[in-house]
Amino acid sequence: MAVTPDTSLLDLAGVGEQRAKKLEKLGLVHAGDLLTHYPRDYEDRRQIYTIREAPLSQRVCISAMAAEHPRRTRIRKGLELVQVKVVDHTGALHLTFFNQGYVERAISSGEDYIFFGTVEEQGRRRTMVNPVFEHLGRQSFTGCIMPIYPLTSGLSNHLMASLVRQVLPCAAGLPETLPQHIRQEHSLAALEFALRNIHFPQDEQALDLARRRLTFEELFYLSVGLSFLKHRRETSQLACAIPARPKAEFLSLLPFAPTDAQSRVMDEVAFDMSSGRPMNRLIQGDVGSGKTAVAAFAGWLCARSGYQSALMAPTEVLAEQHFRSLSALLSPAGIRVGLLTGSLTPTEKKKVRTQLAEGEIDFVVGTHALISQGVVFRRLALIVADEQHRFGVAQRSALAGKSESGGMPPPHVLVMSATPIPRTLALIIYGDLDISVIDQLPPGRTPVETYVVREDKRQRMYNFVRKQVAQGRQVYMICPAVEEAAEEAPIDGPWTLSSPAAELKAVKTYSEQLQRHVFPDLTLGLLYGKMKPKEKDATMSAFARGEIQVLVATTVVEVGVDVPNASLIIIENAERFGLSQLHQLRGRVGRGKHQSYCVLITATRSAEAMTRLRTLASTTDGFKISEEDLKARGPGDFFGNRQHGLPQMKLADLSGDMRLLSEAQEAANRLLTQDPALSQPENRPVLQRVRQMFADTPDIFN
Ligand code: ADP
Ligand code: MG
Repeated sequence: MAVTPDTSLLDLAGVGEQRAKKLEKLGLVHAGDLLTHYPRDYEDRRQIYTIREAPLSQRVCISAMAAEHPRRTRIRKGLELVQVKVVDHTGALHLTFFNQGYVERAISSGEDYIFFGTVEEQGRRRTMVNPVFEHLGRQSFTGCIMPIYPLTSGLSNHLMASLVRQVLPCAAGLPETLPQHIRQEHSLAALEFALRNIHFPQDEQALDLARRRLTFEELFYLSVGLSFLKHRRETSQLACAIPARPKAEFLSLLPFAPTDAQSRVMDEVAFDMSSGRPMNRLIQGDVGSGKTAVAAFAGWLCARSGYQSALMAPTEVLAEQHFRSLSALLSPAGIRVGLLTGSLTPTEKKKVRTQLAEGEIDFVVGTHALISQGVVFRRLALIVADEQHRFGVAQRSALAGKSESGGMPPPHVLVMSATPIPRTLALIIYGDLDISVIDQLPPGRTPVETYVVREDKRQRMYNFVRKQVAQGRQVYMICPAVEEAAEEAPIDGPWTLSSPAAELKAVKTYSEQLQRHVFPDLTLGLLYGKMKPKEKDATMSAFARGEIQVLVATTVVEVGVDVPNASLIIIENAERFGLSQLHQLRGRVGRGKHQSYCVLITATRSAEAMTRLRTLASTTDGFKISEEDLKARGPGDFFGNRQHGLPQMKLADLSGDMRLLSEAQEAANRLLTQDPALSQPENRPVLQRVRQMFADTPDIFN
C-alpha cells in the first residue's frame, strides 16, 4: 500500500490501537503529521568500526559476522538470555541479549550484520549488551545519522524512526510549499529534500540545508501572516479619528514635566489615533519609565472628543491604583473616571456598567477579565492593556470586536509592557504592532542598588530594614507565594513557581514571625493573591498612604504597583524567580527621589543561580536582563502556553535564529509589497498556508 499524507497511522506496520493512542498524544494521527514531527537531536552512527578498533564505553557501530547459532538460556522466570559470538578479521565480540528471545531466530550463523551498542572489555574479552542490529547492506538505523525524536512514555525512538521511515516516501508527492522565486532568492532546498534530510540526514551539510529551509519556511509564513494582518488592518479598517490637540493642555494637568521619551511617544499615539486607522501600538518602557502618563494622555485625547476609553490591568491592586492616580489627574479636567473590579458589589458593578452604556463614564479602569466580559460601551474608542507583555494576537483580535456591537468602528489598542522583550521575540509576538520605546527614566532617579545576600546575613538585613523605616521610608518583603490566586497567576504565567509549596515560606507564617520576633514595634501589612479584593485594596492603600511600614507580600505586587516612598525591597528565595520577574519586583522601589535598595536573599548552592542573581545586581537595564533570561531559560517561557496566540514554532529557535528571521521577514515584506492581497495565482498557496497556520487564531482574517 502506498502511504499518502492522509494515511492513518493505524495503517502502518507496527501501529495498533494502543500505540495509535500514544502517538495521538504527540499530535500524530496521519502520516503527514509524522513528516513534520522533527527530531530534537541526532546521533551520529555513520562510523563503522572493527571489533578491535572500536572505542570502549561509547555507542558505536561494528560490522561483524555471526560465528555460531545464538544460544538461548533461561536463567529463571522472567530472565532469559540469548548469547552469540560474532567475529571479524580483528577478533571476536560476545553479545548478550536480555529477554529478547526473538534474537535466537533473527541472527543466523555465517551472516553479516551491523551491531550498534557499547563495547566493554572484560580481560581480553570484548562484549556488548543488547545491541541494535541489522543485516549488513539492509541497514536503516545503523551506519547513518540517527534522528532522536521527542517521545512520550511507551513509544521508543526506534519505533518512531521506523514509522518515519515508512512515511517518508510520501514526501515525494507533496506540492512545494514555498514559491519558486523565494526559494531561489534565498537558496533554500526543495521541500522533499528538506523533509528527507531533517529526518535522516545524508551528512551534516544536508542537515544544515534541510534545517535552514524548514526554519525559514516557518518564520516566513509567520511573518507573512503577521504583516498580512497588519496590512489588512491598516488599509481596510476604519477607526474613529480622534483629532489631535495641543499637548500643553494635558501637560498642565501632570505634576511633572514629561521626559523627552514620554513626549515623543505621546506624539506617536496622538498621530496614530488621528489617522482614521486603528492604532495598534506597543509601548515598551522599563519599570518606572512613566507609561501611565502616556495612557492617561491617550484617554484624555479620547475624552476630549467625546469618546470612551478602557484601561485593563492584570490585577485588582493595580487597577485600583490606576483608578486613583487617573482620577486625581483627569477629574480636574472634568473627565469622569470609573472603576470596575471584582470587589465591587453586584449593585456597584451594575451601576458602572450602566454608566458605561450610557456614556456617563469617560475612562474606565478595571481588570482584564471584567472589561473583556460583556461590558457595553456607548462610544468606546480606546483600549489600553497595561502590563500585558504577553497579550497576544488572539486576545487583541478578540478585543477589536468589542465595540462593534455598538455600531462603533474597532477601538484603538495600546499595549503597555514593562517586560522588555528581546527584539527577536517582539518581532514575533508583536509582529503586527507598531512599537514605541520609552527609553528614558524620569530625572532624579538614582539606580536601585542591588545586593545578593546569603541567609546568614539575615540579622544585618533586618537592621537595614529598621534603618530605612527610621528614615521614614517603607519596605517590601517578598516571599514566594504558596497561595497565589488563579486569577493572578496567568498574567505572568510561566513564572509561577513549580517547587513544592511546602518548601516555601508561607507568607502568613513568615509575616507573623517577623511581627512577633523581629519587628514587634513596626506596623506590618500582609498582601497575597487569595485575599479578598477589598482587604487587598485596603492594605495597598494603607501602604500607599504610609500607614504600613513593612509590606509582606507575595508577587502580587510584581506588576506596576507604585509607592514612591518605598525604598527597600527584600526578596526571599530569590533564586526561585526568573530574572525578568526579579527585575519587575525591584522596579517597585526607586520610584521616588530616595536612594533605593533591592536585597536578594538566597541559600542556593548552585553556582549558576548565583551567577544569574549577580547579573541582576550588576545591571538595571531591563533589555539586557531579558536577553539573559532568554538565554538561560529559553524562549519556551515566553511561548510556554501559547498565550501569544501565535502558531507554534516547531523548528525555529527564537533565541538563535535571529538572522534567518530577518531574512524571512524581508522576504515576506517584499512579497506583500508586490502582491498585497496575495491574489496572484503563484502566491495563492501562500495565502492558503497562512490561513492554515493561523487557523487557531480566531477572526484573524476578518
Ligand atoms: P511604569 O512605566 O512602570 O508604569 P509609572 O507610570 O507608574 O511607570 O511611573 C512611575 C512613577 O514615576 C510614578 O510615580 C509617576 O508619577 C512618576 N513619573 C512618571 N513620569 C514622570 C516624569 N516625567 N517626571 C517625574 N516623575 C514621573
Ligand atoms: Mg505601570
